[in-house]
Parts: sequence; structure tokens; C-alpha cells
Amino acid sequence: MDVVELPTPEPGAGQVLVKVEAAGVNFIDTYLREGRYPAELPFTPGQEAAGTIAALGGGVSGFAVGDRVAWNGTRGTYAEFACAPASDLLKIPDGMSFEQAAAILLQGMTAHYLSHDTHAIRAGETVLIHAGAGGVGLLLTQMAKRLGARVLTTVSTQQKAELSRGAGADKVVLYTTESFAEEVKRQTDGDGLPVVYDSVGKTTFEDSLRCLRPRGLLALYGASSGPVPPMDPIRLMAGSLYLTRPTLKDYVRTRSELERRAGDVFGWVARGALHVRVGASYRLEDAAQAHRDLEGRKTTGKVLLTL
Ligand code: NDP
Repeated sequence: MDVVELPTPEPGAGQVLVKVEAAGVNFIDTYLREGRYPAELPFTPGQEAAGTIAALGGGVSGFAVGDRVAWNGTRGTYAEFACAPASDLLKIPDGMSFEQAAAILLQGMTAHYLSHDTHAIRAGETVLIHAGAGGVGLLLTQMAKRLGARVLTTVSTQQKAELSRGAGADKVVLYTTESFAEEVKRQTDGDGLPVVYDSVGKTTFEDSLRCLRPRGLLALYGASSGPVPPMDPIRLMAGSLYLTRPTLKDYVRTRSELERRAGDVFGWVARGALHVRVGASYRLEDAAQAHRDLEGRKTTGKVLLTL
């Protein structure tokens, strides 16, 4: 990645031009950068940001120049100015900073749909969340606790274990040195879990399947350690298991679903009921370092670029 000077983009019909104040750095940005997800080169990375509306394109209503807004899902946010469709914009509540808004939108809505819809967590259930000190991990842990679950997490270091406990995890496994599948067996008296939230992929997938009880669900929502190799569906016969590979865009399919999910997340943060940890903020020029740190397991919580 290189920083280059480009003309300020012009908002098209239905779009707004935003002066970006903070942009989220997400794992998906690294997948696009490395070519795991196809993208035509060159492109401006980033798909999540918060800032101030600088200009309106044709046909935009309900927003004005100067409004504080955040959005997710349109590429080009590692930049001083970016265009976004008005249909994706959310107004940032009073009292919430640009950093908080850019930190919570994508990962907060992801944790929301995983805990409320992919598997609607019920009070008293025990659930497993991998990478518990990560951006999604810390938020998902807090939401699972709000819903009354007993939460097991995995992390790679003691420092991350402390953070995960701080978010509410009841039991944290250092999966770099201990078997999380064995620990799950112990914690559930051999019964297994109704759901495993797995964002790590390649290195955890097999044992995640082993953690499920009959009819349990593996929500494989990421691949931070690399993609899972192809598998034969016959494997799911070991307990009539379910496997899903969910993605945020399918859980914000309509404007009302987007507003409901983002509204919950923004509301909880504004009321202090959900804590957003910004683990690291980088300058735009240091975006490459932000990617190295995210991919190198050096980060915790949210990673931001601030402008
Ligand atoms: P995280 O902050 O969770 O960072 C990734 C973490 O994964 C690391 O900190 C590390 O935690 C863990 N990890 C385990 N093995 C590796 C490895 N070999 N290389 C790198 N990291 C590893 O990132 P995000 O919260 O931004 O995203 C988490 C995952 O969720 C990503 O895979 C992302 O693609 C996915 N995602 C999916 C969405 C969806 O809708 N499907 C939406 C948002 C994110 P530790 O050191 O503790 O092991």
C-alpha cells in the first residue's frame, strides 16, 4: 500500500462526499489487499468510516452538509475524502466520537447478528468465541453475556486473556498452548456446545466441530489464520451438525434492518452498556503497519486510522 494524492471524489446521484475523520481497519481489508478476495488494482482500501458530510450528490434527502455520519460497505475509506451511498449512512448520536462510531459499526453489527440471529443466544447456554480479545471477539463476548450466556473464549496470550475476562468471559483458554476442545469437554461434562463462533478458520475449524453437541451450529464467520480446506458434508453427520459461513451484508439487507442493528449498537455504546476498545490508532500513512499488526496478532480490540 502506498499513499498517493488523488483528486477529491465527486459524489454521484444518491451519494454524499464525506470528510473522513476515522476509518476502521478490518480483516476484510487484508483479504482484499492480498488478493484472497478479488479486486481490480489499484484501489483505495477500507470500507468503514466516520466523518462529516462535505457535499451532497443529486437526489439525496434526509442528510445535510455538516452532518456527522458513519457507514460501512463501500470501498475507499482509507482516504481524506470518500463517497458513500446515502442509503448506507447512519447519523452519529450526540456525544459519540468519530473514533467510537468508526470502531463500532462493522464489528458491532457483526457481533449483533451473530449473537441475535445466526444463533439467537438463550440465557443459560454456554458458547465458545474464538479470538476473544479481537475486535469482534470483545464485542461478541459482551453481547453474549448480556443475553445471559456462559462464555468460553480462546486467545493467544496472557495479556489478551485479561482483556477477554474484562469483557466478561467466564473461562479463557490459551489455544496456543492448551486444547480448547478438551477444555470444552470438561466445561460441559462432555455434552458439547450449542454454538461455536469461529473467526479463526484454518487452525481451529476441526476442533470447533468437535466442540458441538448434537444439532449444534458452527458459525464460521472469518478465516484469520487462513481459509478452511474443502470438506465433505458427511462430516456433519457426527451429530447432525449445522455449518454456516455468515457475512454482514446478508444481515443488513434492508434499510430498516440496518437501522435496527446499528441503532441497538450505537444506543448501547451511548448508554455505556457496551464498551468499545480501540486497541490502536494509526495515521493514514501508516496503514501498511496497521495491516501488519492486525495480521501479526499484535492488535486487540479495534484498529483505526485517524485523519
Ligand atoms: P481480530 O481483532 O479478531 O484479529 C484477528 C485475531 O485472530 C487475532 O488477533 C488473533 O487473536 C486471531 N488469530 C488466530 N490465528 C491467527 C493467525 N494465524 N493470524 C492472525 N490472527 C490470528 O479481527 P476482527 O475482529 O477485525 O475480525 C475477526 C474475524 O472476523 C476476521 O477473520 C474477519 O474476517 C471476520 N469478520 C467477519 C465478518 C462477517 O460478517 N463474516 C465481519 C467482521 C469480521 P489471538 O492472538 O488471540 O489468537
